[in-house]
Amino acid sequence: MVTVNILDASALIRKGIPKGKNITEEEVYQEIKDKKSKLEMDLNSINVYRAKSNYVEKINEISPSTGDAHKLSSPDKRLLALALEQKKTQKNIKLFSDDYAIQNICEELDIPYEGIMQKEIDKKIDWIQICIGCKKEIENKELEECPYCGQKLKLVPKREKDLS
Ligand SMILES: [Zn+2]
Repeated sequence: MVTVNILDASALIRKGIPKGKNITEEEVYQEIKDKKSKLEMDLNSINVYRAKSNYVEKINEISPSTGDAHKLSSPDKRLLALALEQKKTQKNIKLFSDDYAIQNICEELDIPYEGIMQKEIDKKIDWIQICIGCKKEIENKELEECPYCGQKLKLVPKREKDLS
């Protein structure tokens, strides 16, 4: 049976999308479409759906109880609504997201999910590679070892404080 993968923005940006049928929500798609040229994404194999309003309402009802409401953007909520809808009609679904707020709602609704951060070593723009030895930032994402000291490289989120 084909698995329906529901992808958030970070999963779409990732190079090498999961096997199976890949879908996303229209707002998520619009959010990243502008960046498409920069990211060299292949969006041809992505099916774009619009979440139904009754499922969006359901997500709105549920999210305050888990304390995640303030962290969920409109595209986040619509993606969850789409996942909930798909769950009613498909046996095999999986939502791909590293967002803890999204993952928490998935737990609440018993929606299977998978993080992508651990596998993500490619084109995701908000992550940088740091050497665990000399702490240098390594721009070449193809490398697995530090070209300066030979230690392993670690992927870390790029935040303001990391840059100072
Ligand atoms: Zn190093």
